[in-house]
Amino acid sequence: MADSIHKLSGEGGLCINHYPMAVHGFFRRYRTISQWLLIAIFFLLPCIKINGLPAILINLPDRRFTFFGLSFWSHDTPLLFFIIAGFSLGLLFITSVWGRVWCGWACPQTIGIDGIFRWIETLVEGNYIARKKLQAAPFDKEKIVKKAIKWSLFFFISALVSHTFYAYFTGAGILASMALSSPSENLTTFYIVNATTLIILFNFGWFKEQLCTIICPYGRLQSVLMDEDSLVVAYDENRGEPRKGKKRSSGEETGDCIDCYKCVVVCPTGIDIRRGIQMECIACTSCIDACDEVMRITKKPEGLIRYESENGLKGEKTIFWKMKTSIYFGLTLLSFLGLFLYVINRSELDITVLRAHENPYQVLSTSEEETLIANHFTLNLKNQSSQEMEVDIIRTGEMENSEIEIIASTLPGIIPPGEAIKNHVFIKFSKSVLGKKRSRYFKLQIIAKSESITKKYIKEISLVGPI
Ligand code: SF4
Ligand code: SF4
Repeated sequence: MADSIHKLSGEGGLCINHYPMAVHGFFRRYRTISQWLLIAIFFLLPCIKINGLPAILINLPDRRFTFFGLSFWSHDTPLLFFIIAGFSLGLLFITSVWGRVWCGWACPQTIGIDGIFRWIETLVEGNYIARKKLQAAPFDKEKIVKKAIKWSLFFFISALVSHTFYAYFTGAGILASMALSSPSENLTTFYIVNATTLIILFNFGWFKEQLCTIICPYGRLQSVLMDEDSLVVAYDENRGEPRKGKKRSSGEETGDCIDCYKCVVVCPTGIDIRRGIQMECIACTSCIDACDEVMRITKKPEGLIRYESENGLKGEKTIFWKMKTSIYFGLTLLSFLGLFLYVINRSELDITVLRAHENPYQVLSTSEEETLIANHFTLNLKNQSSQEMEVDIIRTGEMENSEIEIIASTLPGIIPPGEAIKNHVFIKFSKSVLGKKRSRYFKLQIIAKSESITKKYIKEISLVGPI
């Protein structure tokens, strides 16, 4: 049996199990549900519209990012920082506590292979034994037909995934109209989408878990991120050994492992979990379900292979909250708090009022009755919303009472979404407004109107003049 296990690699003699046996059980059930849920989210998100915009749109040429009705622009870099920090630290926290749970349950690579491509393969070619036999068989009519159907379906799914992926960058509507028009009209898009299709086809159709075991850097980081208290999929050696069939001294009792190799046959990366925790394990839980089934048949307690920490396997207490996990958790929370505060405090119209660089004031005229003064400001207005905005500056009651005049060179003006305008504002007032002081604070009122909102913004400015 062991020999046949080592020959599992199949196509090309590569170091993974191309024909893992299908499993049934507790984890398989919930993994299937979560996989279909995540697949549905991936395909549906670009088609869902919120405030007339796709739920997620990464518009690179315009440097505009739309997330669930909110638009962000390239100048919103703090947002990107909080998102990257939040997700990276969150992943560190999850890995330090629950090991490679991401790999087994949420990684697109695992979901694509396990949830779509292997499912199609089984549908067309049959179970793992039939697939292996077909692979070894000469190219007869049956093999050619089955392989052709399988690779055609693989190609169709790859094209669907590639188009959906591209829709996150263009919007589903635009992509659909591009797909229906002649390729020569959108040659770059045509090449990108087709190249992506071929990469997906190669990766999910043939390369499979080799990406996890050979290329993925996350797998290699495990030894740094995890410790003896992190949960991993592990074989309980104390309970399982000596396994049935192993040489043992007379009278020695056998462990619960009956050496059936079922845990190995189901493993997509082709490893034997009984050799200890290995970097190639993607925590897919297949061996747990497989072994639990064996345990039920042999009337032994389930959990010979289970989620367990190294300390747990030694019979020691698993410590969840440690300095390291607390730091990761705290920093993750802080990043998401920063993100939340940034989003709720972010104004649709960003206003910066600066005093112009030249003289702080100009005396326009002097007479016995009054001295007229002008102050020059620059007003930078940035439309951070997803709609066109009409902006104007208006006098407050306080300014009207003081007979203060506002001369704005380009206002009222229209600002397209994501764009900014610079405006020179001259404020003309009588020196008497300042009283005996050199300066006085006033409130400047800016009104912004768009299709869905009309909002007033107040900015404080200080008017200055000679003593
Ligand atoms: S499935 Fe369980 S009983 Fe069978 S070889 Fe693996 S650990 Fe042993
Ligand atoms: S050892 Fe078990 S959990 Fe790890 S990859 Fe293989 S089957 Fe999946």
